Amino acid sequence: MAARDIVIPADAGAVAIVDLDAIAENFRLIQATCPGADVGAAVKANAYGLGVGPVTATLAGAGCTTFFVATPAEGLQLRASDLTAEIVVLNGPEPGNIPAFHEGRLTATLNSLPQIETWRTARDTAPEDTADAWLHVDTGMNRLGIGRRELETLIADPTRFDGIRISTILSHLACADTPDHPMNTAQRDLFVDVCERLAPVIGPARTSLANSSGVFLGPEYHFDMVRPGASLYGIRPSAPQPNPMKQVVEIYTKILQLRDVDTPMTVGYGAAHQVTGTRRIATLAAGYADGYPRAAGNTAATKEGSSMCAFIDGQAAPLAGRISMDLITIDVTDVPAELCHPGQTVELLGPNVTADDLADAAGTIAYEVLSGLGPRLHLEYQGGTS
Ligand SMILES: *Cc1c(COP(=O)(O)O)cnc(C)c1O
Repeated sequence: MAARDIVIPADAGAVAIVDLDAIAENFRLIQATCPGADVGAAVKANAYGLGVGPVTATLAGAGCTTFFVATPAEGLQLRASDLTAEIVVLNGPEPGNIPAFHEGRLTATLNSLPQIETWRTARDTAPEDTADAWLHVDTGMNRLGIGRRELETLIADPTRFDGIRISTILSHLACADTPDHPMNTAQRDLFVDVCERLAPVIGPARTSLANSSGVFLGPEYHFDMVRPGASLYGIRPSAPQPNPMKQVVEIYTKILQLRDVDTPMTVGYGAAHQVTGTRRIATLAAGYADGYPRAAGNTAATKEGSSMCAFIDGQAAPLAGRISMDLITIDVTDVPAELCHPGQTVELLGPNVTADDLADAAGTIAYEVLSGLGPRLHLEYQGGTS
């Protein structure tokens, strides 16, 4: 897709173009990387900001039969799209949200002794065909999951699982994006050990450890199912290595106004960008409310100015000054004049800037950039079955 072919709707400031075929391709690449494992897909947070409906339909079409969400509300929303696949709710059940699990045929992840007890009580009222539960064991993340002491309690008292069938044991890697980190092997070894110790208590269960980055740590991390999210959406699995995933998201905005600044002056809030000499400034119709990270512009943290650029037909134009809620200012002095006019399409993410590049410039991660894409951004889909 060439940027010059993209027209921003007159009533919108910016569009995000989501390439559904690229998502399907990324799914198949992960399948090929893990030939012995099933591939489930993390579609929490509105499929990392890209639109859970189209993204999930695409992945289901590619053969995905397990989807991960964070909350029961996300699970219900997904079930309402007539998805027949298993929907696993990672944050687990609470006494007040059991009806949502039952109504949506949602699979509970049991993260703690209280959640196991909540689910055990709930089984009395559960519909016949409600899915089995998953058990999350902590192996070093210290966030969610059954910890060491809780594990001993469960092994000593298997009646806590009465009426519950655990289909899958999962754990989550803390440092998988750093392949050489010693946490990876330590967590893997502990996971194998915990699964072996649980086997007599819960019976045969599948096992799952790897997120996106874990997929690329090698076959000894794949177990029965891998759980990628980020890499399906094009985010790099590991910073030091080349990104094997296809780019999924491009974001375009347009020029609203141009001005030539020929006396020493500043641009934008906080007078954070000083113009010297004669410069041409373009004001773009997108800002942090659309999800463009404010920290990518001139901030206290980037006193020297931002290193991030927008692109006009492939020509770089550095950000100039702070990102506003609805506007971005860029320096287009070095961009050919015929490309600089109101209405001109400008690439914020695309062939020249990945979500990882933008995140690096903003001191964050691409996960936050994508999941922070604003509701005002006009989402368009390309490819897919629809
Ligand atoms: C979000 C999440 C994933 C997916 O992680 P990515 O790094 O996006 O691939 C997998 N497992 C759990 C438990 C998660 O919370």
